[in-house]
Amino acid sequence: MKNDAKTETMNLKNEDAPKAANIPTITPDIVEETNIEIARRRAGRYGSPLKNIADAPCPVCGSQSVSFADNLVFEVVLTGERIVIPNLSGLRCSNCGDFAFDADSSKIINEHTGNKPAGGYECRISTVGAEKLGMYFPKDVLRVMEITKKGKAIVTPLSRRKMMVELYPE
Ligand SMILES: [Zn+2]
Repeated sequence: MKNDAKTETMNLKNEDAPKAANIPTITPDIVEETNIEIARRRAGRYGSPLKNIADAPCPVCGSQSVSFADNLVFEVVLTGERIVIPNLSGLRCSNCGDFAFDADSSKIINEHTGNKPAGGYECRISTVGAEKLGMYFPKDVLRVMEITKKGKAIVTPLSRRKMMVELYPE
């Protein structure tokens, strides 16, 4: 019978199996190394879909200077806590310095900042013209952000009540 044959083979293999001393054991160090390697891969260091991008046009300054980078740093201050995440991957313009994280790195950033209370600044919203609403940034925001009078901002809605604002100073 097929099943019997299988069992026999397995028994044979067990007899031939190397002695315990020859079997490599998995130490906590190996597990830690593996975890670091996985984290690196998740960070896109080896596998980013943007890896082959070089000298692409920059959406901010227009020069052909956007290339893959794996040494980007994310830095943010949330309520009383400064978070710095180095070695992230994405694209960076060597001309104007503008950069964007790839999907994997964005995920890592979210994992580190997602469940932290948003130490946000309160901004007043009011009418600035027909059908238009304006948002007024308090001084503290002006102090820490690169906001200029004629700059441009790209607003990306994340949900009905949450949005991301990217600043493009003139
Ligand atoms: Zn640029």
